[in-house]
Amino acid sequence: MDLKEENRILRLRLKELTRKAVENQETLGRFYARELELLSAETLGELLSGMSEGLLASFEVDDIQLLMLDPDHEIRHLLSNNGIPVDAFPYVRFVDDLGVINQRFLRLKSPWLGPFLTPEYNNLFDQPRNLKSIAILPLICSGQLVGSINLGSQDANRFTRQHATDFLARLATICGVCLENVTNRERLLISGLTDPLTELHNRRYLDRRLEEELSRASRYRQPLSCLFIDADHFKRINDNYGHPAGDQVLRELAKRIRSQLRASDVATRYGGEEFAILLPQTNLSEALLLAERIRLEVNSHPIYLDQGVSLQLSVSIGVSETLPMLGKSHHKELGNHLLACADQALYIAKSNGRNRIEHEVPEGLEKHPDKGSLDKKKGA
Ligand code: GH3
Ligand code: MG
Ligand code: MG
Repeated sequence: MDLKEENRILRLRLKELTRKAVENQETLGRFYARELELLSAETLGELLSGMSEGLLASFEVDDIQLLMLDPDHEIRHLLSNNGIPVDAFPYVRFVDDLGVINQRFLRLKSPWLGPFLTPEYNNLFDQPRNLKSIAILPLICSGQLVGSINLGSQDANRFTRQHATDFLARLATICGVCLENVTNRERLLISGLTDPLTELHNRRYLDRRLEEELSRASRYRQPLSCLFIDADHFKRINDNYGHPAGDQVLRELAKRIRSQLRASDVATRYGGEEFAILLPQTNLSEALLLAERIRLEVNSHPIYLDQGVSLQLSVSIGVSETLPMLGKSHHKELGNHLLACADQALYIAKSNGRNRIEHEVPEGLEKHPDKGSLDKKKGA
């Protein structure tokens, strides 16, 4: 080979190496941004979508599946407590045990890269489509395997045993740490947002959710209703049977209320013997029907106290509805007004004899074109 030819080949190789270096730099930059995004995720929802859809986009792979071990359904509860349905994440699968995946992966401490062998690996993906090679990144929290991120490619050479795994190992470690932090943060939050007696949410939680539900309602132009439920003559129960009996009645009351609600409804103990319920996507007439079901559920069969006594409880319920306008973001006032109307209706129900339902809706709502079945302002 003459010098000129050698020079030409060298130049070509240099060009190729430079191109590769630029490409690697870009890939690293993309992942650096993704890692930062994962590290700054504040909620489980953000983290799970970053670890699934986010990584799918960064890796440009053909499939991704985030397998999450969730034996006590705790992660799923934490999500639904934040109003996020568990099926909101198309690439995340919660499993009660990791037995669904191949035994060899249960012992993984670092990423495994190699060919996709069916049917042995089918459980690693929901619908494996023509996958040829995969990478399995074990997720480890406090030394325990808690799931895996499974990446799948239709290119047999994308993930092979020859590939370096340091970078993937680092990513898996970051994901494991983030998962542990965010789960702990949500556990802490929930412990301050739940009423220990009834296990319903508390008033602080209601305040937080009210604004979220109002912005959701305005975005999708859906009504949001509210029930204020107050036990009738509850003081007499304490006076006649003692405080522990009163507590037992409150727990039973919460249970009966909850039995009539959907998973998306937000049930809170507002204080003492008063409960506030937010009903997303529910108009006034539907809310009134639900209120009647709750009233009957409480009143139609007695509560048996531990001390052998049975008693008949009743509740009064105030109902209100709102339909936030699109683009107007005065959600704080609107939320306060929704609660105040339900409280006012409850006051009327008490004055009108208890064990009954009344409603009151914010001014102007009855003129709204999308008011649906709302036909009168006051009186059940
Ligand atoms: P009304 O029909 O007008 O609502 O009458 P009421 O007796 O239910 O209402 P009132 O507000 O006079 O009394 C509520 C009582 O609830 C007073 C309070 O001591 C009691 N209470 C509040 N929280 C608890 C609790 O956690 N446990 C028990 N056992 N009692 C509670
Ligand atoms: Mg009461
Ligand atoms: Mg009260």
